[in-house]
Amino acid sequence: MLGYTVEPRDVFIMSPHLHHTPAKKKILLLEHFLVVPSEMSSLSGKVQTVLGLVEPSKLGRTLTHEHLAMTFDCCYCPPPPCQEAIAKEPIMMKNLYWIQKNAYSHKENLQLNQETEAIKEELLYFKANGGGALVENTTTGISRDTQTLKRLAEETGVHIISGAGFYVDATHSSETRAMSVEQLTDVLMNEILHGADGTSIKCGVIGEIGCSWPLTESEKKVLQATAHAQAQLGCPVIIHPGRSSRAPFQIIRILQEAGADISKTVMSHLDRTILDKKELLEFAQLGCYLEYDLFGTELLHYQLCPDIDMPDDNKRIRRVRLLVEEGYEDRILVAHDIHTKTRLMKYGGHGYSHILTNVVPKMLLRAGVTTKTYECIRVIPQTERLPSQFTPPLLDQASVIAL
Ligand SMILES: [Zn+2]
Repeated sequence: MLGYTVEPRDVFIMSPHLHHTPAKKKILLLEHFLVVPSEMSSLSGKVQTVLGLVEPSKLGRTLTHEHLAMTFDCCYCPPPPCQEAIAKEPIMMKNLYWIQKNAYSHKENLQLNQETEAIKEELLYFKANGGGALVENTTTGISRDTQTLKRLAEETGVHIISGAGFYVDATHSSETRAMSVEQLTDVLMNEILHGADGTSIKCGVIGEIGCSWPLTESEKKVLQATAHAQAQLGCPVIIHPGRSSRAPFQIIRILQEAGADISKTVMSHLDRTILDKKELLEFAQLGCYLEYDLFGTELLHYQLCPDIDMPDDNKRIRRVRLLVEEGYEDRILVAHDIHTKTRLMKYGGHGYSHILTNVVPKMLLRAGVTTKTYECIRVIPQTERLPSQFTPPLLDQASVIAL
């Protein structure tokens, strides 16, 4: 609803400063992200899911960047020459490898919103493997569907936090482009305070906010609006940066200048964005959350930016270890960013449980990875396979991002 103005009585912003003491650190981080209506101060300290406010301690192991219902036609790439026929076939065993490697050239593969039943099964599997919650990063432009998110949350018991805002410029409507920063701010705030997509289902975080490289004027306005909404609501922000190592630096600067709280900001997709170690450590100093969220994606050729050599999961694990060794253990987040059909288990993909069932065990096996690493990513499954010292901490999990 445009033109909505927030009255001071409508929102109370929980934003205690981060005075870390080792014992209290996690709790402070949790509180740091909450948006709480003042008239419901008894609910202070809760997370806003699609089913309403939830105690942070009830979230459980949380994936911070996933999609459950979306379309991705905006990133369709024509198939390589002479491969047009295979691109039109339905998904089958014999073409599965081709579709996995040319994910964006197969139109049906880009319709994740057609797989709600398979995704429901996967969420139950995620839960059975120790998963508790996920942040659904689908924003306006890639077919956010909060009704479906609500149904999935009701039917699976997995907590789902929906994201407010806009995806990349290529998906902005002419109305979006014509809006002022103030009008965009109103849209974002309305999605969190009153509901998104014409429903009363509320978002609990802003993002993923789509940025291209180079950044467009419309995207810059959305970033400024994001900062303004965050300053009023105190909610976390999740950013999808353009595909250049300079993009995350530029985005943080714009957000900062517009009044955002960088300590409550997540920079997604670092796996494919900042590959140079020195540059990564320079970026880490800016103080946002550092997200490795393409776990499960292993590609020879990255269609969306052929200049980038997409790292594999072993490289991602090494990057997480590097960041832990450099002291950023409280700033690291992990996820899969599932956004195409072939990444689902139904189509032979790794699915939403890959980090819990495959990545964490690999981390545990890997000599040189300290227990700190496992604590920091907060997705450790509580199984008999794990030595007792790896039992998750009280407020474990990425609920720390605590949306
Ligand atoms: Zn995403």
